[in-house]
Amino acid sequence: MVDMDTLTSLCKRRGFVFQSSEIYGGINGFWDFGPVGVELKRRVKDSWWKRIVQWREDVVGLDTSIIAHPQTWVASGHVSHFSDPMIDCKKCKRRFRADEINPSTSSGHGEKKCPECGGELTEARQFNLMFQTYVGANQDAASLAYLRPETCQSIFTEFKNVQSVARLKIPFGIAQIGKAFRNEITPRNFIFRSREFEQMELEFFCHPKESQKWYEYWVQERFDWFLSIGVKKENLRLRPHAKDELAHYAKGCTDIEFQMPFGWSELEGIADRSDYDLSQHIKTSGKDLDYFDEETKAKFVPAVVETSVGVDRTCLSLLIDAYREEEVKGEKRIVLGFHPTIAPFQIAVFPLSGKLREPAIKLEKDLRKYFAADYDEAGSIGKRYRRHDEVGTPFCITYDFQSDQDHAVTVRNRDTMQQDRIAIDQLVRYLNDKFSS
Ligand code: ATP
Repeated sequence: MVDMDTLTSLCKRRGFVFQSSEIYGGINGFWDFGPVGVELKRRVKDSWWKRIVQWREDVVGLDTSIIAHPQTWVASGHVSHFSDPMIDCKKCKRRFRADEINPSTSSGHGEKKCPECGGELTEARQFNLMFQTYVGANQDAASLAYLRPETCQSIFTEFKNVQSVARLKIPFGIAQIGKAFRNEITPRNFIFRSREFEQMELEFFCHPKESQKWYEYWVQERFDWFLSIGVKKENLRLRPHAKDELAHYAKGCTDIEFQMPFGWSELEGIADRSDYDLSQHIKTSGKDLDYFDEETKAKFVPAVVETSVGVDRTCLSLLIDAYREEEVKGEKRIVLGFHPTIAPFQIAVFPLSGKLREPAIKLEKDLRKYFAADYDEAGSIGKRYRRHDEVGTPFCITYDFQSDQDHAVTVRNRDTMQQDRIAIDQLVRYLNDKFSS
């Protein structure tokens, strides 16, 4: 398995991910997605949106503001509970999560020392993970607001609006993709744990008597999604939470975990949250968020099954899963074997020589209508193949001196490295066949 340093440097070299604000020395826990990374991210989000919203009749989408009324976070429990106990080193001033100071870093008498410098530590204190800001001209308690630490709470606060406008009958879901912010004490493992990240969340509302059925359904459905975008089954597992791990209101929770170089780690959580979230907002806002069932004339607070996955963590798992090194004619070849649905570029078009620029650009322009395409004329063909192997482009197409005469091009397969001569007017069909097989 690829190690994190190798992957991080590939990501920088090929334009997947850069350290944010690098020219100023970087800012810990923030990352910028480059021209190739942004395409990967977009594919991941598109695939999720298609499967969760576009292909289903029972789910609609939503795009809410990042800053919400602060009472939202009182109702959700984030103001009072969303915190990690943390410990500071009095000497080097580093901050650690209390659970990171394990016995191996303690001195012989049970007294805990700083794992970095051996300095004296403070007692554990609660540290709220929400970023704070002020809305408006005054900076006082009345204008205090938070950057959302998860996208889902606005789905609950908009529940009534969405349900009545979209005339939805239970069971139905509301889905959202968006940025979330957590002032993580120790951001680490590249884009696995950062302070600004993107989530894709679905809240699926159902009758409380049916929540178990839907919970099981969504666990399976979400697992299958990872397989559909090419994550290897052997690197994925389901981890149902033990009873004592569950929040008091939750009836069940299962994480989808991926085998990262630093161990099995959560990519997504699926939870049967009962009617807790809506009930909390009913209590805090005093508004009626009940559901009225036309058929039975019953009024009740729906239960919700939540699926919550990180875009950045999914991208990381795809990069790790796709990475392989091979030896070809005594040289190392690095390949990202992405599934074609998530590859940043599905095809790349090269002119064999600068003299063939014009027809090659025309071909690429035509193919762009059908495929995510890149055009590359820098360096030798061998270098261009290598560059596109490293960003995972499944097919590279070379327009050569013969192409003008035989109206055909050479198509090189990323995985087999086999080259086929294909008539230009057959290219779209040929590639479509390859992508659907
Ligand atoms: P962890 O235990 O790893 O902190 P969590 O259980 O707090 O995660 P949730 O609150 O369930 O995470 O968030 C849902 C998803 O959002 C996670 O499965 C993960 O993919 C993503 N996520 C959460 N925190 C971060 C973060 N700091 N950086 C990147 N992605 C994150």
